Amino acid sequence: MQLYCVRPLSYPFLMESVQFTVFASGSSGNAAYLETPRTRVLIDCGISAKRIRECLLSLERTPERLDGILITHEHSDHIGGLRVFAAKLGIPVYCNRHTASEIQRIHNTKFDFRIIETGRDFQIGDTTIDSFSIPHDAIDPIGFLLHTPTSQIGFLTDIGHGTRLIADRVKNAQVLLLETNHDIEMLNNDPRRSWALKQRIMSRHGHLSNEAAAALLEQIAHDDLRHVFCAHLSGDCNTPELAKSEITRKLAQIDLPKVNVHHTYQSKASPSLEISGKKDTILAEKTVATPAIGL
Ligand SMILES: [Zn+2]
Ligand SMILES: [Zn+2]
Repeated sequence: MQLYCVRPLSYPFLMESVQFTVFASGSSGNAAYLETPRTRVLIDCGISAKRIRECLLSLERTPERLDGILITHEHSDHIGGLRVFAAKLGIPVYCNRHTASEIQRIHNTKFDFRIIETGRDFQIGDTTIDSFSIPHDAIDPIGFLLHTPTSQIGFLTDIGHGTRLIADRVKNAQVLLLETNHDIEMLNNDPRRSWALKQRIMSRHGHLSNEAAAALLEQIAHDDLRHVFCAHLSGDCNTPELAKSEITRKLAQIDLPKVNVHHTYQSKASPSLEISGKKDTILAEKTVATPAIGL
């Protein structure tokens, strides 16, 4: 069941409570935050350090308490904020070896890399994280399945096409962040993009259209799926309504009409999702940043 709630986020976490917040999503920058009783991580760091700090402060958290940053791939909309944010603060950066080399080359600074092996799981605090290959035009892009104490969260962004491997790896997720990048017709009719760029976006190593995302979702969806976040929307070749309606239509078609479908945004954070056992709550956005001491 989904409830809307206006309580502040500063209450002590109940055991087995997990929060997931998408700070930004889209081709101009991506970052999401996961907090469990013993783990605080960012997933991608493609917005400015200042903005990430503000997003964390709005949840009454500080960057200094992060356990790490997981990186899906080295495109600037996923690592743009890393040098100022991670290198300066010495926050561990979790990524595979090829991606680490590219990050090092692009940012030309020292990071506290924790090298992971694609296909192997690793542990941060109380959360086990599976990584797996995804098709995208980066050096060694990956998706994640995060096993938290209350739920499994699938993280699928920047995917050229759905694969059997991806569907298999996230098939137990109760929460799914899924790229719904563009509407095919809007992209085809876009007068500003070159033919070559359109081909790149639509290629098997580009980005998922709403339709392709819905088809991948059909392979993944199961009775225990509770939330889908539509992610990485193109600013001018998609709309939140189109993406959501395509996903909602597919869920109705496969007899899962009760799954909650959420928007994500380029310019602002989505409301946090709190997952606590069987009960999920969408926490109201906080606009006043008042960091609590010691957090
Ligand atoms: Zn991207
Ligand atoms: Zn990318």
